[in-house]
Amino acid sequence: MTDNTVKFIGEVSKVSEQNGAWVIEWPRSATHFHTYGKLTPYFKGLAEGKLMVTRCVNAGCPIAKGNGETWLPPRADCPDCHAPMQWHEVPKPIVGKVYSYTYVKRGGTGLEIETPYYQIDVELEGCCTIPKGYLLDVGREPKIGMKVTPVFRTKDPTHTSLDIAWKAL
Ligand SMILES: [Zn+2]
Repeated sequence: MTDNTVKFIGEVSKVSEQNGAWVIEWPRSATHFHTYGKLTPYFKGLAEGKLMVTRCVNAGCPIAKGNGETWLPPRADCPDCHAPMQWHEVPKPIVGKVYSYTYVKRGGTGLEIETPYYQIDVELEGCCTIPKGYLLDVGREPKIGMKVTPVFRTKDPTHTSLDIAWKAL
């Protein structure tokens, strides 16, 4: 004999009571999938201890004219001519300068590094952008113009932009 009723297939929630109101414990989890697409070389590079950047080499580009500046974070396609950018690795030693900084006492939701820390904007020679990052040294207040070098998280990489930090020179 089969039972033709709709079955509950979930897990029974735990219930507690606070001031007469039930509080339901309902654990949730989700897996988010997204692709880095054409920017994959950047994240792959970080995990391998390489700083991969792009530049436009399209001779017909109205801005780059075949000899574009470096983009970091990289862009897969040139914003000016829409042609695919060319990838290259920034040669070592990599030395940047602190352009500006801010002290982060409380991080936003989902932040996966400890606070407090210094978020820094780094100026790199030949780079037309000023990428954001964080100073690895805890408790060391950066100075504008202070020289920094990247540190890559090659052991247990997170496969996110947290795989690059900067340390003072
Ligand atoms: Zn271009």
